[in-house]
Amino acid sequence: MAWDFETDPEFAEKLEWIDRFVTEKVEPLSYIGLHPADVKNPRYEKLIRPLQAEVKAQKLWACHLGPELGGQGYGQVKLGLMNEILGRTMFAPSVFGCQAPDTGNAEIIAHFGTEEQKKEYLGPLLNNEMVSGFSMSEPQGGSDPTLFITSAVADGDEWVINGEKWFTTNAKWSEFLIVMAVTDPDAPTYQRMSMFIVPTDTPGVEIVRNVGVYGSPRGSEGYVRYTNVRVPKDHLLGERGGAFIISQTRLGGGRVHHAMRTVGSCRRALDLMCRRAVSRKTRDGVIADKQAVQMQIADSYIELEQFRLFVLKTAWMIDKYKDYKKVRKDIAAIKSQMPKVYHDIAARALHVHGALGVSNEMPFAGQVIGAFVMGIADGPTEVHKVTVARQHLRAYRDVQDPDFPAYSLPQLKEAALELYGDPVEAVHEMADQEA
Ligand SMILES: Cc1cc2nc3c(=O)[nH]c(=O)nc-3n(C[C@H](O)[C@H](O)[C@H](O)COP(=O)(O)OP(=O)(O)OC[C@H]3O[C@@H](n4cnc5c(N)ncnc54)[C@H](O)[C@@H]3O)c2cc1C
Repeated sequence: MAWDFETDPEFAEKLEWIDRFVTEKVEPLSYIGLHPADVKNPRYEKLIRPLQAEVKAQKLWACHLGPELGGQGYGQVKLGLMNEILGRTMFAPSVFGCQAPDTGNAEIIAHFGTEEQKKEYLGPLLNNEMVSGFSMSEPQGGSDPTLFITSAVADGDEWVINGEKWFTTNAKWSEFLIVMAVTDPDAPTYQRMSMFIVPTDTPGVEIVRNVGVYGSPRGSEGYVRYTNVRVPKDHLLGERGGAFIISQTRLGGGRVHHAMRTVGSCRRALDLMCRRAVSRKTRDGVIADKQAVQMQIADSYIELEQFRLFVLKTAWMIDKYKDYKKVRKDIAAIKSQMPKVYHDIAARALHVHGALGVSNEMPFAGQVIGAFVMGIADGPTEVHKVTVARQHLRAYRDVQDPDFPAYSLPQLKEAALELYGDPVEAVHEMADQEA
């Protein structure tokens, strides 16, 4: 009977090591002015590489991957427990070799790439020696990929790419970008687009500007223009017309990993809220003694535990089925729940800290924006809720109830009487027998 909420003692020890290591050595990295994608910076070499070596020595490097790709093959549940710790701080994924968007890009090159593509890009990517971008969203719309117009036209031995992409994370540090472009405009909707590997130094690739998420000191979201960008034919990634399938493979895992890390961010907010509540005084005691504050702590704890269990259950299902498609409903559900839980807990933590809470000396305003990011990046919440509903309704498609359905009271009574006879008579019969 496998219905267990305990962590294996051996892995619990690993988690303890991760917790200590992240607290002591990784969290301080957020305050030294280095960006996790700036891998060519000499300070990155000096500061981050030794930490990555420690992680590798602990056999905790790239745990999202199977052993064939240099990972540990721990599966999603263990990864979920790890990510709860890594989600506390922005540098941790890079130190542990599981940073987005490189993880997703590596995943699709591993799945769909040719041997040459794997040789050139996969190894360095998995080793965090190079950074990559995923260039899909366009300025005129990101939620609906059928609106994308960036094109790739075959010309001799090359593809010629033209168009604009928006919010290509880490474009300015990337050595290559995976670009989604229309190759077959007349094909059925979901076979119109293909993926390409485009080295960033190819003539015609231009970063128009680097946009920052509000509150971040620098921009890392590239607005990228592609003007007559020529790449050899063998830079097509996967099948021609296969971009939708490839992007779903990529985004499925990424969404779960975001949710796992969000558990960590929520925990941090709740932890700080509790520390403040027991420390901050009023004339008649600390604010933790006020019921209104207690309600906020209780709600946050309840919402976090519900969300965490849902995330871990989804991770467990991915391990069980080894097929993201079978878990699509629950991945979409946790993706939809994530921004709300994160927003509500971070907002309460901010509020309980008063003026300090809204200041730029605390993480909470950044977390609230982070919650909005979680509701937009990888597709907006509304779209994912539609997926949840559609998937859930599948089991009901054959139902055709009459206007007064079988579960209305008169029908239920009638059915019960048919099954058990007249209940009053039954009681009388029993009374006669007893007499
Ligand atoms: C921090 C961050 C990083 C990102 N990184 C990348 C990246 O690396 N690569 C990349 O390609 N993209 C990236 N994106 C872009 C992201 O994928 C898009 O922002 C997202 O798909 C939404 O597209 P949009 O911004 O154009 O919003 P829109 O499509 O304009 O949607 C705006 C709003 O309209 C509503 N809406 C839209 N469609 C529907 C619908 N069908 N039903 C109901 N309501 C709807 C929703 O409220 C939605 O929030 C990133 C975004 C962020 C915020």
